[in-house]
Amino acid sequence: MSKIALRSRILSFHGKPDQSGHNVDYLEDGVLIVESGKVAICCDAQSAERQGLDLQLCEWLPKHLVMPGFIDTHVHSSQIDVIASYGTQLLDWLANYTFPAESKFADEAYAQAAAVDFVDYSLAAGTTTSFVFTTSHAHAADALFSEAFARDMRLVAGKVLMDQNALPALQDTAESGFEDSLALINRWHGKGRLGYAVTPRFAGTSSVLQLKMAARLMQECDDVWLQTHMSENLEEIRWLESIYPEAKDYLDNYDRFGLVTERSIFAHCIHLSESEIRRLADRGGVVAFCPTSNLFLGSGLMPMEKLTAAGVPVSIASDVGGGTSLSMLMTLAEAYKVCQMQGYSLHPFEAFYRLTLGNAAAVNLDEFVGSFEIGREADFVVIDPCPTPIIERRVAQCTTIAEELFVYMTLGDDRCIERTYCHGIERHNKFTQLIARPGA
Ligand SMILES: [Zn+2]
Repeated sequence: MSKIALRSRILSFHGKPDQSGHNVDYLEDGVLIVESGKVAICCDAQSAERQGLDLQLCEWLPKHLVMPGFIDTHVHSSQIDVIASYGTQLLDWLANYTFPAESKFADEAYAQAAAVDFVDYSLAAGTTTSFVFTTSHAHAADALFSEAFARDMRLVAGKVLMDQNALPALQDTAESGFEDSLALINRWHGKGRLGYAVTPRFAGTSSVLQLKMAARLMQECDDVWLQTHMSENLEEIRWLESIYPEAKDYLDNYDRFGLVTERSIFAHCIHLSESEIRRLADRGGVVAFCPTSNLFLGSGLMPMEKLTAAGVPVSIASDVGGGTSLSMLMTLAEAYKVCQMQGYSLHPFEAFYRLTLGNAAAVNLDEFVGSFEIGREADFVVIDPCPTPIIERRVAQCTTIAEELFVYMTLGDDRCIERTYCHGIERHNKFTQLIARPGA
């Protein structure tokens, strides 16, 4: 089986860090050995040598930075063509841009080609684990799962459930949505590194019956996730109050059916009330903070620090195509600014922790990915020390790893990602433009 031996600067976390560097594992001269897709050794070079390792056998990248692969907890594979669509907020944006774009996925060949591009773009951005909305077409979910499986990528996805208030061509029914989801779970959940997320788009596009059927899937199928949207836009919230007046508030549209659990991921959560925050924390529901999307669609400033302090697990996500980039580095840049507007300066240690082990822990995958603990799946990125002249020049001024990380999260994008490895296999290399497609 394959073996990788890298000697480089290595950064990872073994818990939530503080600014002093507690829980930060930074090796100026480190060695990472991967065997059979798993982390076998991660330590400083001197102690590796003392353990009998011949450092000559390692590929030596003294100026690069190796860190665990990035985890994106909320993204739409069907919306690459919707990024950078002008001039609307959420509800009009869905009607004018998103639904027409998703309609194209009725064509199986189109869905297959789009799935190939989505996973390749994600890997090029350094993302090795994604939680993905496909479309309401079951074959679009099949296409995405098959492409991720071919690359041995860790991916959790679901067919969108949507039986009302959308283009008729995109609507399923409560029954067909249930049957299609169940079949997809049986085909893909637990296969390789894949997982299934029951995926009602949001309460506005699912009937009460469909939300009840989603809860049934959660109860009947072990360890599946739930992913949806919540409290993104003020107009959306008012609209939901009008169509579901019996619900106490937005959260109740999910909570009353048992859909708020520790395996439930809610994108956005910008405008939650104190009561909703408290109940979300009680249930263990996970929030996906999507800063580029929230700014681009004018949705609002997500109170990340407030939710974290209340005990709600908060992850960070791209939300392409409301979000404007698959790059989690660009996502961090906007997260920093959103937090700054609320008086909180997101420290680079916390930011990179959240992209890796923090996001993994939020979505219950930290026993598999997110760190370089021995035995973890070897998903990692190699950061190019000279991705652009300005970054190279700015990094040269840095005297600490925290300063350097802050440059990457402020100025960086996918040009910073020299290589991406999934389960110990190189799946992207920006210099060779290696695209490890099926059969390659
Ligand atoms: Zn979304």
